[in-house]
Amino acid sequence: MRPPTLTDVLRARRILAPLLAPTPLRSYPTLDPGPAASLVLKLENTQPTGAFKVRGGLTLLAGLSDVERARGVVGYSTGNHAQSLAHAAAVFGAPCVIVMPEHPNPGKAKAVRAWGAELVEYGATFDEARPHAEKIAAGRGMRLVSAANEPALLAGVATAYLELFEQAPDTDTVIVPVGGGSGAAAACLVAAAVAPGCRVVAVQSRESPAACESWRAGELVERPNRTRAEGLATGSGFDLTQRVMREGLHDFVLVSDEAITSAQAELLVDAHVLTEGAGAAALAALRTYPERFEGRRVAVMCTGGNASPGELRAALQAG
Ligand SMILES: *Cc1c(COP(=O)(O)O)cnc(C)c1O
Repeated sequence: MRPPTLTDVLRARRILAPLLAPTPLRSYPTLDPGPAASLVLKLENTQPTGAFKVRGGLTLLAGLSDVERARGVVGYSTGNHAQSLAHAAAVFGAPCVIVMPEHPNPGKAKAVRAWGAELVEYGATFDEARPHAEKIAAGRGMRLVSAANEPALLAGVATAYLELFEQAPDTDTVIVPVGGGSGAAAACLVAAAVAPGCRVVAVQSRESPAACESWRAGELVERPNRTRAEGLATGSGFDLTQRVMREGLHDFVLVSDEAITSAQAELLVDAHVLTEGAGAAALAALRTYPERFEGRRVAVMCTGGNASPGELRAALQAG
């Protein structure tokens, strides 16, 4: 499996142009840049599904043959990949089955059903939902869509970084939250092509460090998966995205779930930007390791805004 090329990313941009508006890149005088020279937020939480993953799902569905599309797609996800596939399947008229771990974020489950997908709740974690999704796909002859080992998802997600470097060409550091690694891998590919001086820094929760430790070890490792931040909750590294990150990533840091919650509160109160935990993790990295960003022109990826009411209450209490 090969990572997408810049040509693939430009093709994805043409596919997405009539379907998605570019997301805003904003700076807020009320948001402290710390020792960074400047701080901008890329607001992927404003996407129609509330997260950047919409770019990947639409690109993947657009690239399927008519026969594959008629058979449909199966995904497994804690929420935003699910919404992305359900939304893309609705746009392209394809059947869609989503396997979510039991007791999913109710807002995300509701959105998956609202986009017309069939929702199956199975297993305690993402890693238990996966084999069940494989079984359904094999049994029904549907296309299983991995959360990260999919070049088309990477190509679609990479369009966010083309936008970013057009909106703020002087960005010299971009911080990207990681679960499966499609966002950070996409950032590495695009930065290498159009902004070679820009550092890509990945961040994951200390409670689910599999992607970070896979990157540090140079091989795929499994780790406990206990973070509250759904988008960051994976228990193992993914081959395709890890290979790209091995080449292109400048640094990979871990933050606590508490730091993520504080960053969510800060974004809500100081910038009136609503993020879910994963969507605030990049700011948490800047707050946890300020010295690493001294003098840098930093872009923080606010990857998603699908926070549950309980999560928002907790964030406001912490703030
Ligand atoms: C999925 C997700 C991430 C992590 O993205 P990967 O491409 O899986 O690494 C980060 N933030 C949000 C909101 C997500 O939904």
